[in-house]
Amino acid sequence: MAVRLRDVLLGLRELHLGNAPVIVHSSLKSFGEVEGGPLTVVNALAGVFSSVLVPTFTYKTMLTPLTGPENNAITYGSGESQNRMAEFFTPHLPADPLMGIIPETLRNHARAERSIHPIQSFAGINATNLLKAQTMLDPLGPLGALEKEGGWVVLIGVNHTVNTSIHYAEKLAGRRQFLRWALTPKGVVECPGFPGDSAGFQAIAPDMEKFTRKVQIGPANVQAVSLVMLFKIVISRIKKDPLALLCQQEDCERCGEIRRESRGD
Ligand SMILES: [Zn+2]
Repeated sequence: MAVRLRDVLLGLRELHLGNAPVIVHSSLKSFGEVEGGPLTVVNALAGVFSSVLVPTFTYKTMLTPLTGPENNAITYGSGESQNRMAEFFTPHLPADPLMGIIPETLRNHARAERSIHPIQSFAGINATNLLKAQTMLDPLGPLGALEKEGGWVVLIGVNHTVNTSIHYAEKLAGRRQFLRWALTPKGVVECPGFPGDSAGFQAIAPDMEKFTRKVQIGPANVQAVSLVMLFKIVISRIKKDPLALLCQQEDCERCGEIRRESRGD
């Protein structure tokens, strides 16, 4: 049976987040079939929460230069073919398909606005002030602003490996950020504050378990965690263990760089 608007509205209300603003990471497929498709989910989110943010990141704009600062977890000069395919960032550039179809649908909503970072833009409904918290030096600033407003992360059919807010907590914990480059109509722009890799983030789940609210909407598992609690727990994990939440892939450049730095090589 297809999931309907009413099911999504009731399920999201069951999280009991009150009037809190949220950032949403989602998989439309996790619902099985949805009557009305992704717009139904976007309308439900906008109906239940005071403000809704989604990541509308655009990795297609990224370029790898021939040279740059050392120890930046990037192989300079290796991106010739990707560089040729890179696209200029414009406010109309679709969100990367990696984010799922819901962010792109929200971005196209009549009430949506989008921030203008060439790699890490966010779209939001009723989220003007949160979006304004983004700067080139603090690309994930909207997540810091969301925490100050008592916001929550809502994960719909996805886990913490896509929970961008963990990156903001990593930064607050003093973890290394990277420099990246993006193509814009004004030329190539330096983008500092690019976060590490998120493949190891699910390791935070046991620590978050007792603070996590869970509901089921059709076949989709939906969970919510408060940003205040998430930041606190991630920061304490990293302070205890500088290698916490890194992935286990040997060839991962960003996790490898954090390990190297921690060894002091
Ligand atoms: Zn990694």
